[in-house]
This record gives sequence, C-alpha cells and structure tokens, in this order.
Amino acid sequence: PFNFSAGPAMLPAEVMKQAQEEFLNWNDLGISVLEISHRDPAFIRLAEQAEQDLRDLMDIPDNYRVLFMHGGGRGQFSAVPQNIAGPNSTVDYLNCGIWSEFAIREAKKYVQHVNVVGAAVQTDQGKAIASADAWQLSENAAYFHYCPNETVDGIAVHEIPDVAAPLVADMSSNILSEPLDVSRFGVIYAGAQKNIGPSGFAIAIVRDDLLGHPQGNTSTIMDYTVQAKERSMYNTPNTFAWYLSALVFQWLKRQGGIAAMGQMNHAKAAKLYDFIDSSDFYSNPVNPNYRSIMNVPFLLADERLDGEFLQQAQHAGLLGLKGHRFVGGMRASIYNAMPMAGVDALVEFMREFERKA
Ligand code: PLP
Repeated sequence: PFNFSAGPAMLPAEVMKQAQEEFLNWNDLGISVLEISHRDPAFIRLAEQAEQDLRDLMDIPDNYRVLFMHGGGRGQFSAVPQNIAGPNSTVDYLNCGIWSEFAIREAKKYVQHVNVVGAAVQTDQGKAIASADAWQLSENAAYFHYCPNETVDGIAVHEIPDVAAPLVADMSSNILSEPLDVSRFGVIYAGAQKNIGPSGFAIAIVRDDLLGHPQGNTSTIMDYTVQAKERSMYNTPNTFAWYLSALVFQWLKRQGGIAAMGQMNHAKAAKLYDFIDSSDFYSNPVNPNYRSIMNVPFLLADERLDGEFLQQAQHAGLLGLKGHRFVGGMRASIYNAMPMAGVDALVEFMREFERKA
C-alpha cells in the first residue's frame, strides 16, 4: 500500500525493514535500541552521527545549533516566543494558513504584541498569500515567523521572505524536501512525523546569537539555551525517535541528498497537479505559484462521491487520502518517502474513478 497521510506519514520502506531487523539486537549489543541508556557511548555515537548527517544534508553552517526536542511541531509554537522574544516584545507573523493561526494563538500567550503582517488572499487563479509589498511589518520585531508549507491548505511560500528581523520558519511538512539556504534563517523547526521520523519529536535549528535570552519562566526542557548546552540530553530524550530519524538521514544520503530529493519531489508534484488540472472532475484550489510540493489537496466535482472515492482508494491500497477535517475534500501528501510509483498509482486510480463515475 501507499500511505498518503499528512502525518504521521509513510517512512521509507528500507528504513522500516532495517529497524525491524535491528529491533531486538541493536549494534550487536543483544538488546534493543529502546533499552539502551542515552548516555551509553554507542547511543551518543548514533546521536552525534544523526546530527552530522543532518548538517551535511542541509548544509547547516557552524554557527547554528541542531536541537532534538520534545513536543512535536506545536511544542515549538511556544518554544519560539519563549526563547527568542521577551514578554514585552513585538513579533511579526505571516498568516499562511491553519498552522500559522495555531502558532499565532500560542505566541499571544508569551508575547505582548503579536502583529499579523498578512494572510491568505483569493486571486483569479486560486488561493495565494498576500505579496511581500503589502505586509505591514513592525519596526523592531524580535522575529518574523512564517510557515513555508501549510500542510492542511496545501499552500507554499516558495520565496524566502526578505525581512530585517530574524526569520523563523515552521518547516514541519517541508523540511528536507528540497535545497534550502539555512543561513537566511534565525530558527528553523519541524515536528518530525512527516519527512523525518516518529511523532512527538522535533528538530530545531537555531542560530547561535539567538540563544541565551529565554524568558524567565520558560520550561527547562523547552529552553533552547539549556538544550544546546546539554546536546539535547537535558532529560531523557526520545531515543527511539532519534534512532529512526538517524536511519532516515542515512537513507536520504543514499538517495543522493536533498538536491536529488528536491528534483524527485518537484517531478512527483508536477505529475499530480498536471493530471488534476487536465481534468474537469478534480480541482485544486491553490494558485499555481503557491502550490505545495508536499501536500496536494483536491476536490471532486461532486462531493457526494467523496465517500465512494475514499473507499475504493483504500481498497486499491491508496491510504490516508481524506482531506483535513477543517477543509474536507481530499489531500495527497507526497513526502520524501513516497516513491514516484505511488503517485503513478494514484493518478491511474483517479483517472479510472473519473471514467467510471
Ligand atoms: N506545523 C505544521 C506545518 C504541521 O503540519 C503540523 C502538524 O501536522 C504541526 C505544526 C503540528 O505538529 P505536531 O502535531 O507535531 O504538534
């Protein structure tokens, strides 16, 4: 089966097989990686290698810390304001869609002035994000936050915003999907369960100069400065998630790294959008310049067929296609682990369903 779920999402089959084979006897220690202390030298080696592999893959400059955090993507919604802004600061948020809205709501708990600089707009060619010249930027924002890939809406901001404040990006659903200039950012964070590994785990990539000024009441496990100092082992980390993420990073390297992944992801997305655009039966609501290469929402012309579509898709081994409960319709998430064969199978199924409808 091919799993098009938005998250937790499909992991590479090769990684799942390796994890299964090593499950009871990791690193020839006779016990599972689940049972090893995070302070064991073998685990420390794994953790350090994982960080190095991520640094290699994303070409992360030396003046950034890579943190392996608890609490998934939403944990970072509060970690960012608590670590990067003071309670009386002003922060700017671009509202790109549903996940941006959740991030904004959370930031308001910790920072007095949360300024929403712009939002989604309707254009002749579909949904888009207000263009940069219309943003109402603050003068002294502690940071500028945006979500370059809105998982639910299927909207992407493909150009990195050019703003004076440190740039913070929620890359939960697009991290590692294509090449990226990390040096443009102050903080990049991502819940792990789409392109990396298990849920509940998160990566935060933080520029050194932004460390050292957490708000006084920041919980210690969410404190970037503490976690940087403790190499993300202030308390017991999620060792199994760390291990699986490490396997995914190695798998990505074997695939040719992020440049190769990006080419493949663009080709997968183009195939699906081209098919949707060529049909009167299916439609995508997003302006072509703002379409996500990871999450492709689509509607059937007659929504009464939604149930039948999902049932037949499931039967054909195409899982997780139901759209998010907030927006309905369908959504195909085509993260790194989804091979072209999965997209081919989906397009073929959609063509056949349309023909029979
Ligand atoms: N941000 C984005 C863009 C997401 O897609 C998600 C989850 O799907 C989250 C944040 C929240 O992540 P979590 O469920 O790990 O808290």
